[in-house]
Amino acid sequence: MSYKAFHERSIKDPDGFWGDQAKLIHWEKPFKKVLEYSNPPFAKWFEGGQTNLCYNAVDRHLADRADQVALVSVSTETNQERAFTFKELYSEVNRMAAILKANGVQKGDRVLIYMPMIAEACFAMLACARIGAIHSVVFGGFASHSLASRIDDAKPKMIITAEAGARGGKAVPYKPLLDEAIELATVKPEKVLLVNRGLTEYTTIQGRDLDYAAERQKHLDDLVPVEWVDSTHISYILYTSGTTGKPKGVQRDTGGYAVALAASMKHIFCGNPGETMFTTSDIGWVVGHSYIIYAPLINGMATIMYEGTPLRPDAGIWWQLVEKYKVSVMFSAPTAIRVLKKQDPAFLTKYDLSSLRALFLAGEPLDEPTASWIHGAINKPVVDNYWQTETGWPMLAIQRGVEVMPHKFGSPGVPSFGYNMKLLDDSTGVELGANEKGVIAIEGPLPPGCMQTVWGDDKRFVSTYWETIPGKLIYSTFDWGIKDDDGYFFILGRTDDVINVAGHRLGTREIEESISSHPNVSEIAVVGIEDKLKGQVAIGFAIPKDAGKVDTLEAELMKTVDTQLGAIARPARVYIVTALPKTRSGKIVRRALQAVAEGRDPGDISTMEDQAVLAQIKTIIEENPVKS
Ligand code: AMP
Repeated sequence: MSYKAFHERSIKDPDGFWGDQAKLIHWEKPFKKVLEYSNPPFAKWFEGGQTNLCYNAVDRHLADRADQVALVSVSTETNQERAFTFKELYSEVNRMAAILKANGVQKGDRVLIYMPMIAEACFAMLACARIGAIHSVVFGGFASHSLASRIDDAKPKMIITAEAGARGGKAVPYKPLLDEAIELATVKPEKVLLVNRGLTEYTTIQGRDLDYAAERQKHLDDLVPVEWVDSTHISYILYTSGTTGKPKGVQRDTGGYAVALAASMKHIFCGNPGETMFTTSDIGWVVGHSYIIYAPLINGMATIMYEGTPLRPDAGIWWQLVEKYKVSVMFSAPTAIRVLKKQDPAFLTKYDLSSLRALFLAGEPLDEPTASWIHGAINKPVVDNYWQTETGWPMLAIQRGVEVMPHKFGSPGVPSFGYNMKLLDDSTGVELGANEKGVIAIEGPLPPGCMQTVWGDDKRFVSTYWETIPGKLIYSTFDWGIKDDDGYFFILGRTDDVINVAGHRLGTREIEESISSHPNVSEIAVVGIEDKLKGQVAIGFAIPKDAGKVDTLEAELMKTVDTQLGAIARPARVYIVTALPKTRSGKIVRRALQAVAEGRDPGDISTMEDQAVLAQIKTIIEENPVKS
């Protein structure tokens, strides 16, 4: 079937189309209805059906592939490589599920997972799914305040963690940050289950903290029956940044997610059961949820979890893993490729990459030099794909399993099946034609696998995502885009204050709130500016309360962000200034700040109250440029 016909059917006949795709997974109880959309924009997929993500990822494969490797956990930080067959993964997940149950975790309870990239994190996610508990994985690079706000919102009964992660040869302690976060949070978890990796010392809180190794020992032979849950049962919450300081809990269902992932493996990623997928992301991000854990396992593939940088022990490490585990599908991000591009290309040609069919890249714009370089170096198709935490799987891609359409540099391709994508004028809501710039929007219903709502806040889901375009109930991606005559989309940046650093979404408002908590800050503006390696970096402009005490202020502000949000959110620079450019009504003109910081013309600044302010800031930046 051609892409065009395939996509058209998915939009015009969602029941028929998704009814077919649903056959890719196991249903314990068949669904009665494919799509229930009587209360837009809330879509319910496969109503009446019952299934389980863990069963589909693990148990289902025991009949045919019990002794096939399911999970390889590689750490170039601790020099460990552990492989688990589906049978072994089944045992470990059962043990973890038994620990959860023994500690009172039940269906619908939340379990927060704050872990490095170790196999136990995978066991924990699957164990939650097995018993119908809702996991919320928080990226290990986030610090105590970020963690505390997520604890308060998700109200987890239990937190699963490790005492430390490791990066660049150094242990990164997790436990003290977690203790501090629990201290800050108003809702306290009953138990903390800790995997002790022997990397750092830590303190144990009696009665609350449990040692994983000791607990596992108690449940070595336990088998925990799968909890069959409704298709619409919440599988997880994953927090993401927006324009307010409060992260949004993206809530995902079970059946729709499983079907969407299975369908994407078949039609987009083209991975076959028995093969290996290597996704270099982290379980703290959506790519990690979908394409490190659930999609490959649901598809009967082995998956690689990788702890470490792409450069240690040398820049060949990822390709060495491709050769060793005969990886057929690899998924990474443009920033990682830009990091590799600075290294000797011999590292890429040294290994046998014949098993690899394609390299998928997502999370941020893929620039042409990076795309051409990696394509030339590995001589495999490089497939850009565009999506968001909210969608759970690609919205735009060349769907090679449907039709191998030509790639166009700078474009992630065409709408994926199920996505009715539109380009709209943001002020009138009018649909735009070819080559006109507009907001990328999706006509409801969102396809299976996309967010159901904002956890605990249906109103926020509707007002944030569905009511931004005048006169229409339509999902906004908050990305600008353009479509060419062939229907290929090009992404032109965000419409809001969200920035993208190395493929990770950060809200400038969150960083501003953190910096504002410093006692010597009276005003702050944070903007994202272009960066050659990371795509974008944050920079701040702070007005001190006491201008006499600014010698170490920049360093103090960086430290504030590090300890509250995590180093990932740390701005590249915080300039100490005496004034910020504002409109006459007192609004900070961030766009002008960004333009000046990027060395561009700020455009029309006639609405600005005091135009000299911008000139001053320009001079400060020129004297102290941001180092890339
Ligand atoms: P996140 O939810 O953190 O994955 O961030 C999603 C955002 O990243 C999108 O709204 C886009 O702004 C950006 N993004 C993701 N994939 C791509 C891509 N392939 N090309 C351009 N921008 C992308």
